[in-house]
Amino acid sequence: MQRLTILGSTGSIGQSTLDVVARHPDKYQVIALTAQQQDELLFDQCRRFQPRYAVLLDADAAERLHARLALAGLTTEVLCGAEALVRVATLAEVDAVMAAIVGAAGMPPTLAAAQAGKKVLLANKETLVLAGHLFMEAVHRSGAILLPIDSEHNAIFQSLPHNYAGDMRHSGVSRILLTASGGPFRNTPLEQLHNVTPEQACAHPNWSMGRKISVDSASMMNKGLEVIEARWLFNAGGDDIQVVVHPQSVIHSLVQYVDGSVLAQLGNPDMRTPIAHALAWPQRIDSGVAPLDLFAVAHLDFVAPDFKRFPCLALAYQALRAGGTATALLNAANEVAVAAFLERRIAFLDIPRLIEAVLGGVPRSEVHALQDVLEADAAAREAAQAWIAR
Ligand code: NAD
Ligand code: MG
Repeated sequence: MQRLTILGSTGSIGQSTLDVVARHPDKYQVIALTAQQQDELLFDQCRRFQPRYAVLLDADAAERLHARLALAGLTTEVLCGAEALVRVATLAEVDAVMAAIVGAAGMPPTLAAAQAGKKVLLANKETLVLAGHLFMEAVHRSGAILLPIDSEHNAIFQSLPHNYAGDMRHSGVSRILLTASGGPFRNTPLEQLHNVTPEQACAHPNWSMGRKISVDSASMMNKGLEVIEARWLFNAGGDDIQVVVHPQSVIHSLVQYVDGSVLAQLGNPDMRTPIAHALAWPQRIDSGVAPLDLFAVAHLDFVAPDFKRFPCLALAYQALRAGGTATALLNAANEVAVAAFLERRIAFLDIPRLIEAVLGGVPRSEVHALQDVLEADAAAREAAQAWIAR
């Protein structure tokens, strides 16, 4: 029996995780569920999975959940606040932590789970973008098992040699090929991009996801964040990672070897596949995902990314090359920009403009400790808000 904490259980990844867990009640037990403020959905999840703890970030929502649980005669203990997220991510009785909070807010409990030596199922890519070096160091020091949930990174993990120890050259790996769908605006005429709405940006052609990552997919910042994520997960250089636009989202990424072999992982675009893979690793379990019908797919297309159309991708490579806190600045500026776009305070094409202004205006520094990252994050958010208010 594997005992789980699911951080961000009310989100897209969180709900898909519970869907897989519900198929295997003999294998997984839910110890803790967490959400920002969705107390009604969290209550339903508590009724169904009977966790020991439920955490809400918001105090009023926690109050409401507590009352409803008491009324229903359920014994789940309600906790509140960011500290409680860290607590349920590090409980002695928990074996594995699904890190599925969105954004930088997910970093502290994810890092804490790694420090505590848990099996970490990593969906929250922002943790690696903000603090990749510190996080990987924590994983290695504690002996935590790190399994990528992001579909591309899960595919790469599956396509790497079984004994892969974070050294591409000695494993015969020559390149990582990171696939991207190109999002909803892959073929939108450039002059129309300025006027696109949050609804259009969130209407992804292949994947159903939370709103923040959907906008990131539309700007291709998501792929930029994933290049940085791959750099840390697989100890690869930026130049070892090639983005390949593959509109069908059937190949989830590939690994090229020095002998000319290219290994790939394929499947229907449904996050329950990487989630089930990571939950059961090194075994396999049913995920509920329909088998891939290659005849229905029929075509697999590949094109090079268009850095002019998607300047966010170029900005991410730029931040990765700059190193230090540059990727934390990139991430924070992007989070503020995406939130402002979703609130219709800035236009879609302002997203890369804002990020470029923050990267140019806030000095980067080296990362020696978590404090350096947190300070960079705060400085970038302040600069980004000032840019919006200008
Ligand atoms: P989502 O918006 O659907 O869900 C986010 C979850 O985090 C919710 O449970 C929400 O309550 C919680 N949350 C949000 N802000 C919080 C805060 N400040 N403090 C505590 N909890 C908070 O997001 P999602 O699409 O499920 O994505 C989650 C993470 O997984 C992101 O980092 C994303 O990049 C990554 N990811 C998602 C997908 C996908 O298909 N959705 C694919 C790959 C990677
Ligand atoms: Mg992905």
